[in-house]
Amino acid sequence: MRFIVDLNKCQDQVQCVFAAPQRFAVDDDGRLALRGQANGAVFESEVIPEDEIDSIEEAVMICPVQAISIEP
Ligand code: SF4
Repeated sequence: MRFIVDLNKCQDQVQCVFAAPQRFAVDDDGRLALRGQANGAVFESEVIPEDEIDSIEEAVMICPVQAISIEP
């Protein structure tokens, strides 16, 4: 499983950081740190280990603008 973040939708509200701190973080400007690793407006993760799936699913649910999605 991978997760995708649509950075055009993301409003840097960083709730995902609380749900899955091992994958999401805030940069020095208070923005989602994944922006620095994104290819254009989309961040696509590496394959996520099974023990992280629950926390990523929680991030998907908690994101107020539905910017995170999961790809099987
Ligand atoms: S919770 Fe959603 S809007 Fe907030 S930083 Fe994460 S992806 Fe962006």
